[in-house]
Amino acid sequence: MTAVAIIGAGYAGLACAVELARHDMEVTVFERSRTLGGRARAVRKHDRTIDNGQHLLIGAYTELARLLRLTGVSPRQIKRLPLTLHIPGQIRLRAATLPAPLHLLTGLICAQGLDWRERFAVCALLRHLKRRRFQLPAGTTVTGLLTDCRQSFRLRNLLWEPLCLAALNTPAHEASAQLFANILRDTLAAASATASELLIPRVDLSELFPVPAARYLATRNGSILTSNAITAIIPENTGFRLVGAPGHRIWPQVVIATAPHHATTLLNSTGGCPELAARIAAMPSEAITTIYLAFGPGVDLPAPMIGLADGPAQWAFDRGQCGGPEGLLATVISAPRPGGKGRDDLIPATLTQLERALGVSLPAPQWTRVITEKRATIACRPGIIRPGIATPLRGLWLAGDYIESEYPATLESAVRSGVRCAREIMEGTKHPDSSGNQR
Ligand SMILES: Cc1cc2nc3c(=O)[nH]c(=O)nc-3n(C[C@H](O)[C@H](O)[C@H](O)COP(=O)(O)OP(=O)(O)OC[C@H]3O[C@@H](n4cnc5c(N)ncnc54)[C@H](O)[C@@H]3O)c2cc1C
Repeated sequence: MTAVAIIGAGYAGLACAVELARHDMEVTVFERSRTLGGRARAVRKHDRTIDNGQHLLIGAYTELARLLRLTGVSPRQIKRLPLTLHIPGQIRLRAATLPAPLHLLTGLICAQGLDWRERFAVCALLRHLKRRRFQLPAGTTVTGLLTDCRQSFRLRNLLWEPLCLAALNTPAHEASAQLFANILRDTLAAASATASELLIPRVDLSELFPVPAARYLATRNGSILTSNAITAIIPENTGFRLVGAPGHRIWPQVVIATAPHHATTLLNSTGGCPELAARIAAMPSEAITTIYLAFGPGVDLPAPMIGLADGPAQWAFDRGQCGGPEGLLATVISAPRPGGKGRDDLIPATLTQLERALGVSLPAPQWTRVITEKRATIACRPGIIRPGIATPLRGLWLAGDYIESEYPATLESAVRSGVRCAREIMEGTKHPDSSGNQR
């Protein structure tokens, strides 16, 4: 049986491992951290467990949903909401509990804060995309698309730009309209209303998939070695030696399932992929800041998730309504711009935003945490060329959210790339001469 080594126990590496183990392949995952989940993991901060960043999933994440079912995750671990956009005092749009497309049409008709011209403009943009079968000219930005479809300043400001930031983690004037169109195709314009649902994990991000994935692997020939960084990959005649792995094993198949900047280092260590490593190193990235504000019982939001305007944060989540402690709010700043507010100013600025949105004065938080992931995701700009899963070295593969995908760098892109890697490896072991990347 071909043994596969996977470097990285984020969502991509674990998806790859689960898919291989499902087909009885021998899998070992090496993870340098003590915690599973990578950028989507739980962190301990002063005796409290929080996520390293608030995440939102959507109903269109079909591959992640399949893996959650496969690894025995209960649907109760996720709070499902109909597609909702609620910026208090400004706009309230909630999809109706009806089949598509009536769910959205009814939601638009009943939306508060939109006039009829704006409602028609939203439909016109979706019609524009449908007429083009969701294929847009290369190089178009989301702002370009919104201008072509004559979306008003309010619609851009209250609807499209926040959605673009949430989905692509890239500001609209820099973001790829094609990736945005793909998301709209698979959510707002999907054949099923559930595809546009918003999913908020009720458990921390390590518990959501990584821990059940580890349990699944433990029952199927798989193992995970945590606190075990791989520092170099050395090509040998029959496979690869992993520097940092226990023993002197040669692995015929190795998957690098790390964030792009770590993949660059590992690819360079092989001496065989300088161009690919340079391409990945050149990919631009964007940050995400999550600000946790713990007020305790008595403070809540009008919905599990609301939009925020006129300030640094774009979204606020009420963790108390999603399985967390009462009164714990998480506010999110996607793609913060350089020159924006410093860490010390972020908390008062976000508090002011929340007070304005809720129309009440809030008590001083019992505790606060600001977590910035500087390289949260790649910037999803038009023309960005994301690498495929194959490398120039046979038997060496790449998985991760930055790999070419119809979707931006998200959990869904990460798991899809991992599953694709697993299937290519299995295909190659069945037909050793059929794949371009097999020893
Ligand atoms: C703050 C924040 C908010 C986000 N919000 C959302 C959201 O709302 N919705 C959404 O879908 N996505 C969101 N994302 C993106 C999502 O988290 C990522 O797309 C996804 O987690 C990437 O998974 P990955 O497996 O590709 O990489 P990673 O999660 O980076 O996993 C790579 C793993 O490799 C390990 N590793 C690295 N080098 C080595 C080495 N040398 N040896 C061994 N192990 C190594 C790392 O420790 C890590 O565990 C967000 C990301 C952040 C940071």
